[in-house]
Amino acid sequence: MRIHLSPSLALAALITAAVPLSAQQTIKPRPEDTEVWEPEPMVVTPSATCTAPPSDAIVLFDGKNLDEWVSVADKSPAKWIVEDGVLTVNKKAGNIETKRTFKNYQLHIEWKIPENITGSGQARGNSGVFLASTGPGDAGYELQVLDAYRNKTYVNGMAGSLYKQAIPLANPSRKPGEWQTYDVVWTAPVFNTDGSVKTSAYATVFFNSVLVENHFELKGETLYIGKPSYKPYTTAPIKLQAHGDPSAPISFRNIWVRELP
Ligand code: MG
Repeated sequence: MRIHLSPSLALAALITAAVPLSAQQTIKPRPEDTEVWEPEPMVVTPSATCTAPPSDAIVLFDGKNLDEWVSVADKSPAKWIVEDGVLTVNKKAGNIETKRTFKNYQLHIEWKIPENITGSGQARGNSGVFLASTGPGDAGYELQVLDAYRNKTYVNGMAGSLYKQAIPLANPSRKPGEWQTYDVVWTAPVFNTDGSVKTSAYATVFFNSVLVENHFELKGETLYIGKPSYKPYTTAPIKLQAHGDPSAPISFRNIWVRELP
């Protein structure tokens, strides 16, 4: 990384080097000593509505096609259904994931439980957004998608939960048949060269614009059975779940991501 010194800082550094220690102690700190001028944050044009992708977003689904997605099982083109600008889960086709891989990012995704949904608990509109897919099946870190409008289940497995690890701070679920939003900040875990965890994964989640996970520190991948643990990775796709429950398949739209440093 290049280091830019302002002229005043450079001058201060020169003076500091030239002046003996006793004299240095009398130099008064100035406001500009702690001013940082570069690098300047990138200028981004926000959208007119808060849900449309901003200018620097990578659009993962804009209602037209699944060009950004593949089947997890064999990396063939994703076979979920695109119709009228909406992506609907094809349960027989299995999970799909992005072709691109990501580290830290901001994600926007919208989802809808069908109005005529049946079933109860985990078998009522179950899907999921895996914030990092670390392998086949359900390997990775799942932000649960489920009908949570008057549908009782374990709270660390309801919509807005980081599956079996983080209970949502609120339940802002809309009725089946209405579109809902997730806005996520994902901070990927960092691993040492020996595979041990250097820093944990963190997730912040807004559900229908309500904060439901506040910089939550994950204990590892989200598991159906057993205690979570970490598995080293560097970058990973984002994965959507084709859950095997018998209720009608759910839908997604307007999916975009902004990579973060
Ligand atoms: Mg799920």
